[in-house]
Amino acid sequence: MSGSMGERAMLDWSDSVRNAPVAANTGVAPAPARVTIDEKAMINCRADVNQLLPLKYRWAWEKYLAGCNNHWMPTEVSMQADIALWKSRDGLTADERQAIKRNLGFFAASESLVANNIVLAIYRHLTNPECRQYLLRQAFEEAVHTHTFQYIVESLGLDEGELFNMYREVPSISRKAEWAIEHTRHLDNPDFKTGTVEADRAFLKDLIAFYVIFEGMWFYTGFAQILSLGRRNKMVGIAEQYQYILRDESIHLNFGIDVINQIKLENPELWSAAFQEDAREMVRRAAELEADYARDTMPRGFLGLNAGVCEQYMHFIANRRCAQIGLKPVFPETENPFPWMSEAMDLKKEKNFFETRVIEYQSGGALAWE
Ligand code: MN
Ligand code: FE
Repeated sequence: MSGSMGERAMLDWSDSVRNAPVAANTGVAPAPARVTIDEKAMINCRADVNQLLPLKYRWAWEKYLAGCNNHWMPTEVSMQADIALWKSRDGLTADERQAIKRNLGFFAASESLVANNIVLAIYRHLTNPECRQYLLRQAFEEAVHTHTFQYIVESLGLDEGELFNMYREVPSISRKAEWAIEHTRHLDNPDFKTGTVEADRAFLKDLIAFYVIFEGMWFYTGFAQILSLGRRNKMVGIAEQYQYILRDESIHLNFGIDVINQIKLENPELWSAAFQEDAREMVRRAAELEADYARDTMPRGFLGLNAGVCEQYMHFIANRRCAQIGLKPVFPETENPFPWMSEAMDLKKEKNFFETRVIEYQSGGALAWE
């Protein structure tokens, strides 16, 4: 914990004072020093968090730039085809409609849970300005994602109460939300402070819960469902929006993984054998919750997807996430049943995006299309 403003050295605007040689014997306190790279640290850092430069973690800054380069808004995507299909009598099966609604319901609340975790739990304890710069960008992207679900609900004329309450009313969705909220709860308590092994481990677990599991595992079944529809030319507007969300989320995930690995590097005592076992148990439990959710959203399977294949996919993803943060795999080795998902994440597909996107943002005026 960096401490309150009071504990920190006072700001000093005078160069002459700052650069004056410290008088060795006068007893006068030296002017506050400029931040050096060596003083910067991921957590429990005492260096001034208001000085972005000099950069220490270039990977964080690069993700901030990459996020900005991916800017998009949901309202840029036409919903006409989706509206026509949703209102048609037999364009979609009852199973497809149910899977779509549950999927939207899961994401609608999840984007807010992730955003709140960033702002209320993570931001305070990540004591590095370039990481915070990325978190500010990510927080905005989560707002754009939440906006996407508002826009979809409005476009299709869905029951907003039903959708936004699914995380409290549909058990397979609430169990995931509750599991995640449990990790965020003690961190957004104003009395929570990092700086002990126990507290720092709680912080690491929150990062694993949200970045590796929530955004890194659970979102992926949801992406597979909607992109699978899109591949069959159904709900193409939503599918396009999900591709942009997926592109954002793959940066969120990679940022989280870099953060976790950097904290490990700087605080190796946190990463004990027992902690690693706890983390693997979190991943195992999360995959179980996801299998329940898959059974619940696709009781009879749909579009070549079914609960069994989704569970295999979750195991594949779970093992991959474990490897990314240096944990032993949790499941027996398994192949990726959705190789097309890695294609969907391929950023080279951006071509499509830039052909249809708005090229100019205007305040309060009409949007110009290329
Ligand atoms: Mn998101
Ligand atoms: Fe995210």
